[in-house]
Amino acid sequence: MVERLGILGGTFDPVHAGHVAAAAEVRAVVGLDRVLLVPAGDPWQKRGTVVASAALRAEMVTRACEGVDGVECSTVEIERVGPSVTADTLEALGGTDRELFLVLGADAAANMGTWRRLEDTRPLATVVVMERAGEHADPPGPNWRWRHVAVPRLDISSSELRARIAAGRPVDGLVPPAVVRFIKDRGLYTSS
Ligand code: ATP
Ligand code: MG
Repeated sequence: MVERLGILGGTFDPVHAGHVAAAAEVRAVVGLDRVLLVPAGDPWQKRGTVVASAALRAEMVTRACEGVDGVECSTVEIERVGPSVTADTLEALGGTDRELFLVLGADAAANMGTWRRLEDTRPLATVVVMERAGEHADPPGPNWRWRHVAVPRLDISSSELRARIAAGRPVDGLVPPAVVRFIKDRGLYTSS
């Protein structure tokens, strides 16, 4: 049996309800067995702006996925040293018993031109672009397996959440309850 596996990478600094809702929607619409949320170990395009360590970001993702059918955390990128490169991740997660789907926000898809090993990425997965109302992204070149899925528009971003926490405002409902507790217990994001 071939497992249909979705891979949604990100910084997840912190993970939020928008990520979880989008992962669940893509899983349902594309008919995936599982969607893995994959926190980047070294998100080289965000160096200097990442706040929580890779281990803490993975712990938050694990908590966010608890009780969500078919959505799980993968630590494959944080166990690898060096910059997080999508082609490496797909190679690590792929196999003859798996069909891979690379799940990207429209903003992330529009940025693919900057990726390392971009051409190596193409044969490894079907790209699934999550489009929130009004968003769209085209493939970075010919011959990509490419599809679009409309996902619920939850206007939440990790950077806004960090600013909110630093200002002492609540993030309840924007972030899963177990993650809110984790952020409070560890005192994460309290200074901007
Ligand atoms: P930042 O504010 O730092 O950009 P972010 O909230 O966009 O953070 P990322 O970790 O960069 O979080 O996002 C990982 C993936 O999830 C990206 O592909 C991004 O497009 C997508 N994504 C981010 N926010 C949402 C959301 N509210 N709904 C659906 N997808 C989202
Ligand atoms: Mg973003």
